[in-house]
Amino acid sequence: MNSQILLKAVEADKDSHISLLQSFTQAPSPNRPGDTRAAANVLISYLHSLGITAEIIASQPHMSNIVSNFNFTTPGPRLIMNGHIDVFPANNGNDWARDPWSGNIANGRLHGRGTVDVKAGTAASAIAYSYPYRYREHLKGSLGLCAVSDEETGGKWGSKYLLEDERWRGDCKINAEPGGLGTILFAEKGTLRLTFVVRTEGAHGAYLHRSKSATKIAATLIEDLAVVEEIVPKLEPELDEYLRRGDVRGAINGAMGEGAADIVIKPTLNIGTIYGGLEVNMIPDKCVFEADIRLPTGLKADQVMEVIHGIVRRYPKATMEMQKAASNSAVACSHNHPMVKILARNTELVAGKRPLAILSIGATDCKFWRYNEVPAYVFGVSPQTMATRNESVSVDEFLAVVKTHVLAR
Ligand SMILES: [Zn+2]
Repeated sequence: MNSQILLKAVEADKDSHISLLQSFTQAPSPNRPGDTRAAANVLISYLHSLGITAEIIASQPHMSNIVSNFNFTTPGPRLIMNGHIDVFPANNGNDWARDPWSGNIANGRLHGRGTVDVKAGTAASAIAYSYPYRYREHLKGSLGLCAVSDEETGGKWGSKYLLEDERWRGDCKINAEPGGLGTILFAEKGTLRLTFVVRTEGAHGAYLHRSKSATKIAATLIEDLAVVEEIVPKLEPELDEYLRRGDVRGAINGAMGEGAADIVIKPTLNIGTIYGGLEVNMIPDKCVFEADIRLPTGLKADQVMEVIHGIVRRYPKATMEMQKAASNSAVACSHNHPMVKILARNTELVAGKRPLAILSIGATDCKFWRYNEVPAYVFGVSPQTMATRNESVSVDEFLAVVKTHVLAR
């Protein structure tokens, strides 16, 4: 299929693409609570309007996963296009300049919660899925679309659930999570989430001879835990060399902010929550805190847990538990896969610049495909306003992502 013919067709339909993204944004799908039915209906109606069969597979009635599939006449590889329908919450939106679900377009940007993460991307995947359908007599292999719910809260009812069915694995998977037009993401960090509880006797705040303070013990324990950031991952020499390249480091910093290239290959520790004490004049008898450790490629959770167990053993008043459902290992696929070259070539054609394959700091559903040994890549809009108040996406970037994905064959 001639790329220029396809690009012309996409350009001629651009008003319809923008209007799909607008309606999709205007159908709130905050997770939590995660009711995505209204937004899923927007996508389903779009696909049906083009004569494409799509169905909902949902293990939770309010969390719709849309799937669609077609086989071309000539056999060949199977590509899966994937995105998520659920987005971050926006609370009551009082501190937003516009209604968080407005879908307003102003100064070349479409506004609303979840436009960047990831309604622009999911709309792009659905649109990109529809073009090969229109030109199916020219193509080979097969194509699947999975627009899932429950990405923001872990994937148990979304991609992880769908992938129990081999049909949705494919030979390669792409999605349009935010990363920016300068990058293709081929790997992501893992997560290790832990809950710590420190318990002591507690006492009147003036009677320090009576009890140790749970919050003070927690503070020392947190300082000791910082040592996990010094654990060095074992990278394959070829990957290590690739990640030291100046242009690759520049692309990582450009996409995720200055400093990202340093931490993308290191473990990091964030103490996300901490609660302790009832009153200022009481010695706290309980302190609970949660640690969010991000694991780089080449570092296994077991190695980190060994270090942490060693530390916790020195604190008889403390216990620790892993949040299993929220902990996932780091996983990478090849940065030399043909799909990387295809996406890079398409971006050059569409946006005039060639993106580089990089690792991501954040997590996406790609990990579930990679755990199944299916190469999975991300190419999407800039992450700048992702999850912020007044989130908005550049309409031009959205259309560039649509085109890049349409040509990803
Ligand atoms: Zn996302």
